[in-house]
Amino acid sequence: MEQGTGFHQQDTDTVFRALTTGRAGLSQAEARERLARFGSNRLPEARRQSPLIRFLRQFHNILIYVLLAAASITLLLGHGLDTAVILAVVLLNAVVGYVQEGKAARAIAAIRHMLAPQASVLRDGKRLSIAGDDVVPGDVVLLDAGDRVPADLRLFKVHGLQIQEAILTGESVAVSKQTSPVSAETLVAERDCMAFSGTTVTGGQGAGVVVATGQQTEVGRISGMLTEVDTLRTPLIEQMSVLARWLTLLIGVVAGLILLYGYFVLQQPFADVFMAVVGLSVAAIPEGLPAVLTITLAVGVQTMARRHAIVRRLPAIETVGSVSVICTDKTGTLTRNEMSVISVVAGARSYTVEDSGYAPFGCVWLDGETLDPEQVPLPLKTLVRSAVLCNDAELSRQGQAWEVQGDPMEGALLALAGKLDETPAELRRAWPRTDVIPFDTANRFMATLNHDHQGHGMIFVKGAPETVLALCANHQGKDGRPVPLDTAFWQRRAEEIASRGQRVLAFACREVPDNKTVVNLEDVRHELLFVGIVGLMDPPREEAINAVAECQAAGIRVKMITGDHASTASAIGALIGLANHDGTLTGAELDKLNDDELAVAARQVSVFARTSPEHKLRLVKALQSEGMTVAMTGDGVNDAPALRRADIGIAMGCKGTEAAKEVSDLVLADDNFASIVAAVREGRTVRDNIRKVIAWTLPTSSGEAFAIIVALLVGVALPVTPVQILWINFITTVSLGLALAFEPTSNNTMQRKPRPRTDPLIDASVLWHIILVSLLFLCGVFGIFTFAIESGYTLELARTMAMNTLVAMEIFYLFFIRTMDVRSPSWTMLQGTPVVWLAVFGVLIGQCVITYWPGAQAVFSTRAMSVMDLALVLLVGVALLLLLEIEKQVRMRVGRSDLQ
Ligand code: ADP
Ligand code: MG
Repeated sequence: MEQGTGFHQQDTDTVFRALTTGRAGLSQAEARERLARFGSNRLPEARRQSPLIRFLRQFHNILIYVLLAAASITLLLGHGLDTAVILAVVLLNAVVGYVQEGKAARAIAAIRHMLAPQASVLRDGKRLSIAGDDVVPGDVVLLDAGDRVPADLRLFKVHGLQIQEAILTGESVAVSKQTSPVSAETLVAERDCMAFSGTTVTGGQGAGVVVATGQQTEVGRISGMLTEVDTLRTPLIEQMSVLARWLTLLIGVVAGLILLYGYFVLQQPFADVFMAVVGLSVAAIPEGLPAVLTITLAVGVQTMARRHAIVRRLPAIETVGSVSVICTDKTGTLTRNEMSVISVVAGARSYTVEDSGYAPFGCVWLDGETLDPEQVPLPLKTLVRSAVLCNDAELSRQGQAWEVQGDPMEGALLALAGKLDETPAELRRAWPRTDVIPFDTANRFMATLNHDHQGHGMIFVKGAPETVLALCANHQGKDGRPVPLDTAFWQRRAEEIASRGQRVLAFACREVPDNKTVVNLEDVRHELLFVGIVGLMDPPREEAINAVAECQAAGIRVKMITGDHASTASAIGALIGLANHDGTLTGAELDKLNDDELAVAARQVSVFARTSPEHKLRLVKALQSEGMTVAMTGDGVNDAPALRRADIGIAMGCKGTEAAKEVSDLVLADDNFASIVAAVREGRTVRDNIRKVIAWTLPTSSGEAFAIIVALLVGVALPVTPVQILWINFITTVSLGLALAFEPTSNNTMQRKPRPRTDPLIDASVLWHIILVSLLFLCGVFGIFTFAIESGYTLELARTMAMNTLVAMEIFYLFFIRTMDVRSPSWTMLQGTPVVWLAVFGVLIGQCVITYWPGAQAVFSTRAMSVMDLALVLLVGVALLLLLEIEKQVRMRVGRSDLQ
């Protein structure tokens, strides 16, 4: 067999024969063999830049150009040693940058792989979910709304199948599919018996046989390779790069002026002034900032992934920390999605059912008496039959436990059948299905058409009680015979069950002529027989209760948006602690509100029931119009507009469709509400850390720079030589600055109100610190330097002390920054993390080498310091920390800052 083109003109049987396969798909063994033969169903990945190019790119940086220019001029001036030091720093800088950037890129690529799409195939006649990469020619692929087509398929079964093929044809309107062959010369865009790899199913269901995979597919042929490149760019990083460029320009101008001033006015030797100006530029240009910020983001992405929140679009990580309202699904997100039928009403009798998970055995009680499975009343039998036949799930035993393949709610219905001694497999064999209207959140029901082998046809319907009641004319009396429908009775019963937090599902059926093999909406519109209702328990997740409480402490509102009954929703809402004094709002009520009324209601109400996906979109818009930053969850293809519109669109990793994942910013690997809150917490931490990185980098840079500027302007000896500055700058940025990227979440992170996204990162407090810290640095450096000179030390020793003072102050300032937003830092916070100590330790070792090793002394013109002098230097660092802490306490008390 061959994969390839031309299958669109052949009828399906010919295609099956050509691919040596059938409607039941391949066997696992055959599939494995074909995977080896045809290769993985993947397009070649975009070629990554070669390591050499990536390394060379590290030199594409203004600071490096400045340094390289400086190196050549020092060489011309005959200062060979300085040239060597500058070049060594340039090289080291590039190596560190290369390694760090590589790590960040790898981390993000690894997370991308976690999002690899899945495909539903038939193997050995069973429906299986496999990695899209493992699909082979001849596989039978099942398509549902929201799926991404995993390979090129020749369709052999469709039910209202609609596919959006924009990536192939550029046409964004979905096309309807069918199964008959089309003529050979039909254009790709019009081959409506085919489904093409990479396109999205927007509605209906279908099945097709794979005719081409990987590069043989139509997209594979067009694009040849995926063009998506991993970038580490986000708006914030962009903004910081721009800032860094402007700062560089400004510094360049200042440096030029100082050069002229020193040379012409103060008449100092050109070489000296020039080197001082280079040192000044090196100190002041925050060249490491964008890189450190990138790493901060990458660290955040990784931490979130560990907490089951996978970031799809990197900029999301900047936004998620500002979320002020989370709109979440109920089923599976706040609840466990482990369903179990615990009440049934059929033939006007109420039954209670033992909750035994998905195990298909257990007791059913009627009026306190155990029901004998041999004597199940007819109405209940009819209900169970409808529940089993209008159902796509399977139950299977895994060791001790029973598991569901498919919808958990449908699994629970099969378990109920087991308790009444019905075998689903037998029933389904006796009543094969000829057609189906799949469940969708807008219609809120599902219908199937089944035929027995004695010439009977039946339509079975299950769905939300209001919906099903509206389709019925009669209901089953005590003996199972039809009597006129008593809508009020059933509504009361449904309400009763729902108010106990159970999900209510109703059933109906109708006999149809045996020759009918297609069911459409018209057929279920009238004259159905109402069979009964069941109540299903789906307990809330323990973690969700805590997570909701955490949100409340953090000033984040939580809204539950569900398709379920209002009473069920509000009962579950109460269980998980959702404030719900303003009642619930249903989709129908929502439709009656205009946009202004909705904005008010959206703010006040926490539980929205019987909603459809369009309501989600309206709610997102309403909340945004109130100035909130909205996170919204979704799983279906219809949720896509709301997910796209939300500030943070969150798709469910397990039950979510590919269509929902593709437009989302975050994907929850475990569908758990608690993971959203973990992501917000981590997002806030990232934002805090970015602020800390900036608040540490800018003031220390300016502090170093001012020490040189002042010395030059006043015309005294430089307290620190340019080469020393170069060294300090290098060693502290790659250690101390970077350590802040790894700061853990602080205790108060989830105890303060959300910060608006538009809050500037360089705010008044950072600006104030730039001034204050620069001044304190000046005092410290010149204080020590003057003290040393006055004490009769050599110029070299005085400079060594001044340099070490700078480093000491930077270290202590780091400790201040770590707790800058906390009014009373606890002892544990001051203790620091392993990363911080590693950084400090690294810097200390570096300083020891520079100060005491004769080899380095020769290069950096340093001298060994006495223990007393060391202690003095340390004392300056401690004094800086104390002064800043006092200043903070005063400022926080006076300013009543909201930072606590
Ligand atoms: P949720 O927000 O809880 O996920 P859904 O939109 O999935 O709500 O479901 C809304 C209602 O539709 C349910 O309360 C139930 O009555 C009905 N329903 C859900 N799933 C199915 C299904 N597979 N078949 C028939 N009816 C269903
Ligand atoms: Mg649902």
